[in-house]
Amino acid sequence: MPAEAWTPVELLPTSGQPVPLLLDSPHSGSHYPADFGYACSLDRLRQAEDMYVDELFASAPAQGAPLLRAHFPRSYIDPNRGLEDLDPELLDGEWPLSTRPGEKTRLGVGLIWSRLRGTTPIYSRKLSVEEVHRRIERCWKPYHATLEREVERLHAAFGCLFHLDCHSMPANGDPRIDGHSEPRADFVLGDRDGTACCEAFTARVEAYLKGLGYDVRRNLPYKGVELVRRYSDPSRGRHSLQLEINRRLYMDEETFAKTDRFSLLQAQLDGLLADLTVFAGDRSAAHSTGS
Ligand SMILES: [Zn+2]
Repeated sequence: MPAEAWTPVELLPTSGQPVPLLLDSPHSGSHYPADFGYACSLDRLRQAEDMYVDELFASAPAQGAPLLRAHFPRSYIDPNRGLEDLDPELLDGEWPLSTRPGEKTRLGVGLIWSRLRGTTPIYSRKLSVEEVHRRIERCWKPYHATLEREVERLHAAFGCLFHLDCHSMPANGDPRIDGHSEPRADFVLGDRDGTACCEAFTARVEAYLKGLGYDVRRNLPYKGVELVRRYSDPSRGRHSLQLEINRRLYMDEETFAKTDRFSLLQAQLDGLLADLTVFAGDRSAAHSTGS
């Protein structure tokens, strides 16, 4: 049987003036691999996607910031989880590596998702050790290898790096995560309680979005997970910030249709990126002059 031809990970290279700004969209992938073997409905599964987030930030490369995007869906394997965040009970055999299932796995959304919204099982079978290993090798590792390579390249060139990890979130709270089902803020910024980036980066994004009239919260209910933890080291000039966009700002969560506000939001995010290229350029210049 010929291998399925698709590219799990894509890095969109820059065409604009390079700046130490890097974007990634780990959850907007919508290519459901032939070997997924899920048992739930595809529509339910697709609600887990951060649909259109890569498109909302499509201007990044032309503004000088590389954009990494996954084409595989997060429900297949989640690049925003550590390799150890795996429930061995999902497997039909002995997992050869160590595991340390955490809170995300308990909620059914670890490295390999088991349930949707805590209740709907994704599989009616156990997964083989071999197929989980294949997902890691084919999707998780290339995603992280590409991101790490870009982090190193930009940091070497500019002496600092600002990484914006781009996501979207359901409009309303999930009682298991938020403790309520009330409407969420327009944007949630996650800097792991101030440990994944300098205050100035979070404040710059926050001020820009608030200036547009949006309601912005920090670290609640999302602090940022593996992607902002793994590559950040503010003491060495490596800054990562997670940005969650409320889906009600651009799409209908039931029909998946873009709303009339999509292009307005896209233009506003173009403006945010333009502001961040100035910010990142200034910080890089300050670094090179030692100030
Ligand atoms: Zn996400």
